[in-house]
Amino acid sequence: MARYIFITGGVVSSLGKGLASAALGALLQARGFSVRLRKLDPYLNVDPGTMSPFEHGEVFVTDDGAETDLDLGHYERFTGVPARKTDSVSSGRIYSNVLEKERRGDYLGKTIQVVPHVTNEIKDFLHIGEDEVDFMLCEIGGTVGDIEGLPFFEAIRQFSHDKKRGQCIFMHLTLLPYLAASGELKTKPTQHSVKELQSIGIAPDILVCRSEHPIPDKEREKIALFCNVRKESVVAAYDLKSIYEAPLAYHEQGLDQAVLDAFDISPAPAPNLAMWHDVYDRIHNPEGHVKIAIVGKYTQLEDAYKSIAEALTHGGMANRVKVKIEWVDAELFDREDAAPYLEGYHAILVPGGFGERGTEGKIKAAQFAREKQIPYLGICLGMQMAVIEAARNVAGLTTAGSEEFDHEAGGKRFEPVVYHLKEWVQGNHKVARKTDDDKGGTMRLGAYSATLTEGSRVAGIYGGTAIEERHRHRYEVDVKYRDVLQQSGLMFSGMSPDGKLPEIVEWKDHPWFIGVQFHPELKSKPFAPHPLFADFVRAAVEMSRLV
Ligand code: GLN
Repeated sequence: MARYIFITGGVVSSLGKGLASAALGALLQARGFSVRLRKLDPYLNVDPGTMSPFEHGEVFVTDDGAETDLDLGHYERFTGVPARKTDSVSSGRIYSNVLEKERRGDYLGKTIQVVPHVTNEIKDFLHIGEDEVDFMLCEIGGTVGDIEGLPFFEAIRQFSHDKKRGQCIFMHLTLLPYLAASGELKTKPTQHSVKELQSIGIAPDILVCRSEHPIPDKEREKIALFCNVRKESVVAAYDLKSIYEAPLAYHEQGLDQAVLDAFDISPAPAPNLAMWHDVYDRIHNPEGHVKIAIVGKYTQLEDAYKSIAEALTHGGMANRVKVKIEWVDAELFDREDAAPYLEGYHAILVPGGFGERGTEGKIKAAQFAREKQIPYLGICLGMQMAVIEAARNVAGLTTAGSEEFDHEAGGKRFEPVVYHLKEWVQGNHKVARKTDDDKGGTMRLGAYSATLTEGSRVAGIYGGTAIEERHRHRYEVDVKYRDVLQQSGLMFSGMSPDGKLPEIVEWKDHPWFIGVQFHPELKSKPFAPHPLFADFVRAAVEMSRLV
């Protein structure tokens, strides 16, 4: 039966709860325990699938096809445990389940209330898979005191009560602001935040205090006394140069020891942190750098491409170089020459995206990379744009485009080299789209296998011809254009197992030009960089030696 660690936050948002949870998961693994991490989000959206990347950052997709919060990406990158649909839930999902049950008559005509019906629904969610791991780490989104969060706090309070004593602990993240005028760290906001928690029946066992300055012993004692925790359980979280230092930094501050003490696990198994020391060394001692342009649409919010930025960092670690990412807005050169915007980069990456805006710029970026022999990685929409560029400028299909853009404009302007997929095969069964333009839940989502062409560049990179990668898209390159494009030199080097859906394209006579219909970035980890990203950065390093 799993032990539960509930992670909450107070004082201000964006304290790095997700990172603290992920780092703690990694530390428990380093001591030989198995873990699973979960996120409970108080917002009312049913899932983040339809939330704007501008507002909410990237949508992280799991193998089993759930569109989840980007924190699940952190969890996977730190623990290597593939997240599942059941690792993320929002108030919207919980309420929607409760209302569905009410409509079905499952509650036998009872009055439906937040307590116990909503809280029971949350508790049922928490129980899923509890026999599978040693530790279940559950992060509650938002901060204590938020109106939306209350049912979640009440549910975890009840949950810990229902369980045997000592099976659940509460870890609370707060901020210690520094007052320059008096040269002091202030503990009062932390005290208030803990009071707020206590007033809803939760007494934290561990306090993680974010601070820009070292926490003096005296302040630690004061926090312990006023917040009713042990002094060793007041753990400092200082700013870090890289998020991947977090496991080592938290270990140094005694977080994992404090957690094991709180559960009375003694003697505590010694941690093996060799992997994290290696990660640290690769980040802090690069032997050079490369400059890579990400040509996208959501460039104002870097979180919109979180996993891509992380995967590039991992690719840099694999090659012992620092990857300097520059965000280039594709719309800037929708109607003008792309060269002035793209010169000087050692590689170009065009990421996934939705809608027509900026796509002409992305097509130009693919053309620039092809003609100038610059390493290019196209992901999802980035692959589709590379195919359209090849069709228009090499194969002579001058009106080539995507049905996605016609769909938006409500006309037929393009030859549909990229078309709206209506039916496809997943494993052994057929999947059909229910409606034409349903915004949520009808994409080709989650893990699908692909077969790679023997002798292709990608087969060499993956070291084999059978792969499985995660998808999230509605549109697809039409296989009927394969022959004409291959004759032009664009190889279809990865296909779905039934041979109907193009998964990977690569230019034959180019140092490194690959487009993939899936999202390899979602599976990259600092300790196991994704082979495509590792090789893409290697190609960028080579390019940097040429210029
Ligand atoms: N908009 C494209 C599609 O739906 C690409 C999606 C993506 O890049 N994730 O097929």
